Amino acid sequence: MAYDDNNIFARILRGEIPCTKVYEDAHTLAFEDINPEAPIHTLVIPKGKYVSMADFAAKASDVEMGALIRAVGKVAEIKGVADSGFRILANAGDHAHQAVPHLHIHVFGGKALGPMLVRAK
Ligand code: 5GP
Repeated sequence: MAYDDNNIFARILRGEIPCTKVYEDAHTLAFEDINPEAPIHTLVIPKGKYVSMADFAAKASDVEMGALIRAVGKVAEIKGVADSGFRILANAGDHAHQAVPHLHIHVFGGKALGPMLVRAK
């Protein structure tokens, strides 16, 4: 899939749409999810134009990859869930219901999160 420059996270990165920033560095931005599904629900995105984790894994530099993972760790610390525990999730493509076509890692926490997935039928 080609990258859509008008996806909502591209617009957040350009400052066209506001976000509640949690963390930022040269390669990543983290901000609060607009519709949180847990007491802590923060999104971590690369600044580069990557549609999904598959696209990122294929094309991103080692520096970008390292920065994204370190940003997840920073967010867990900033949000106070590094010790209590948290879950990360990155939906990729139709079967995973990826809604925004710019790679994003969800960081969930702040309560016991239960089983990993609803049991597949
Ligand atoms: P996905 O289903 O693609 O894995 O997750 C997309 C996430 O982006 C959803 O959790 C949704 O609430 C969040 N989201 C969608 N639009 C916006 C927005 O404009 N601002 C913020 N902060 N989050 C958004």
